This record gives sequence, C-alpha cells and structure tokens, in this order.
Amino acid sequence: MGNWKMNGSLQTNQALLGELRELYDRTCGSDLVVCVPAPYLAQTQQLLDGTPITWGGQDVSAHDKGAYTGEVSAAMLSEFGSRWALVGHSERRTLHGETDQVVADKALAALRGGLTPVVCVGESLQERDQGQVAEVIERQLKPVLALGDEAIARLVIAYEPVWAIGTGRSATPEQAREVHALIRKLVGDAGKNVPLLYGGSVKPDNAGELFAMDNIDGALVGGASLVATEFYAIAN
Ligand code: PEP
Repeated sequence: MGNWKMNGSLQTNQALLGELRELYDRTCGSDLVVCVPAPYLAQTQQLLDGTPITWGGQDVSAHDKGAYTGEVSAAMLSEFGSRWALVGHSERRTLHGETDQVVADKALAALRGGLTPVVCVGESLQERDQGQVAEVIERQLKPVLALGDEAIARLVIAYEPVWAIGTGRSATPEQAREVHALIRKLVGDAGKNVPLLYGGSVKPDNAGELFAMDNIDGALVGGASLVATEFYAIAN
C-alpha cells in the first residue's frame, strides 16, 4: 500500500500510475494499493478502473456530512471508487492533533461508508527509548478495539514507528516482528485475519527480510511508492 502524502500532479500521477499498470503482474502475489491526495481520486479512478490495482484516501472525516470545512467523507471517497482510507497516520496525529479517540471515530466512519480503514499506530523514538512501545500501541488501539468484534474483523492495521517514517531508518525485522506479534495478540480472535502492514522506510532492499517475519503481511510505503519501479519491486 503506497501513501503518496502531499505529492503528485496530474502529469506525474499519469506517468506513475501508467507505469504501475504496466509493471503490475498479479502473479507477484501481492495486492497493490495507492492512497492518493483527495483531488486526484477522480484521475486515479479513471486510470486504474478495471485494473487489479485499488486506491484510497489518506484520511477520512469522522463525520458523514455537514459543516466540517476541508474534510472529506467516506461517502465521497467511495464515490470515486476508493476501497481504503488511512486513519491515524503519524503525520495526522502529530501535525493535526488527532487523538486516539478521533482515530477510532474515523475508522468507524470509514466502516460505515463501506471502506476498509487502515489504522496506523506507532511509537516515537523517545517512547521507544523509554521502553514504552507496548504501552503506546495498546493505548492507540484501545478505542479502535472498543468498536467491537465485527469492526475489528474488517480492519487493516499498520505499525509505523514514527522514527522510521521518511527517515531512511527502518525498524529491524526483529523490532517489527515483536510489535506485530503484540498487535496480533491485541486484535484477538476477531482480528485473526486482519492484515498487519509494516511502514517506515520500506525499500526494495529491506522489504524481503521484513516480509519474512511472522505477522508482517505487507507494507505501507511512503517515499518508495512514488517511484513505480521501487514500489513494484517491494510488492514483487
Ligand atoms: C508513510 O508515509 O507511511 C511511510 C512509511 O513513509 P516512508 O516509507 O517514506 O518512510
């Protein structure tokens, strides 16, 4: 799953999505998803409709409609063919003050609108250094897990240590494995089939060793998803 963040233009998107369409071969065994800026959903739909590549938004409003200037609802994302919505990306949490409860409200709104929420969690470097990783992950997931078993079964969860996002410094496979095992335990029986993605400086040269770990079912990829050959190499 690629997260373009606030990158792209009509021209560069056309080239990137065109290249991905040509490269992507289902036999690689991975599903490919792009989460694009909202203004480019129509273009993405036009270029990817009918291909096996799916797309989604990078955020979704906790509300269904109304006086929420600047927000995009799940129904709006759906109308442009989105299947997914990232919620609680660390940039939303830190730059936009999203609390754990707001993230859960957004996950619920996505589910109500027929989207799969991709709930992002992860600790800061300070929290890791202070031995608080498990505590932070449990705290972030608590209101999401309170949505109940039916909701849990429909989630995707991405573990993204904040210190690894956009820094070129990925978690080691062992560090990622440990947290994924914890998340698998926290989601319990209801979440036994929930895909768990690792995110944080995933590149073609470290993807293989991360994917070899138990409970790492895929990746949430920022920078490398902007280069078709790199993104495809990770999927492959
Ligand atoms: C992200 O944006 O979620 C991310 C993991 O970015 P990067 O791959 O660039 O670290």
